[in-house]
Amino acid sequence: MQTSSERCLFCRIASGAINARKVYEDDATIAFEDINPQAPTHVVVIPRKHIASLDDMSESDSVIVGATLARAAAIARDLHLNSDGYRLVVNCGEAAGQTVFHIHFHLLGGRVFGWPPG
Ligand code: AMP
Ligand code: ZN
Repeated sequence: MQTSSERCLFCRIASGAINARKVYEDDATIAFEDINPQAPTHVVVIPRKHIASLDDMSESDSVIVGATLARAAAIARDLHLNSDGYRLVVNCGEAAGQTVFHIHFHLLGGRVFGWPPG
């Protein structure tokens, strides 16, 4: 039987089974360039742990997801996105546009973003 990590695209990127343009990785977190960028900089930041969505987070997952969030902010600083500003997006569920069910932050920068989002 396949496990979620064998089926899940982002687990496969995290394990190295599928290639991605990685911009950061450590024991807990990995970040890579989005294959279909929506801004001049578009990085996807994920925990290595498979958590399907924000709605699937357990209480203890908040430590992991909090570390992923802090890492996204650190990458934004490393890429000098913080001076002009950047957007961090989590899509939760199909109506919000989630297509990959492994929790992730979209780090978007390098342009001005409208509000409200589409
Ligand atoms: P979401 O729609 O919020 O679930 O975000 C999933 C993101 O993953 C989309 O922005 C896709 O462009 C991106 N994506 C899908 N496949 C890949 C891939 N192989 N490498 C990098 N990014 C990908
Ligand atoms: Zn996964």
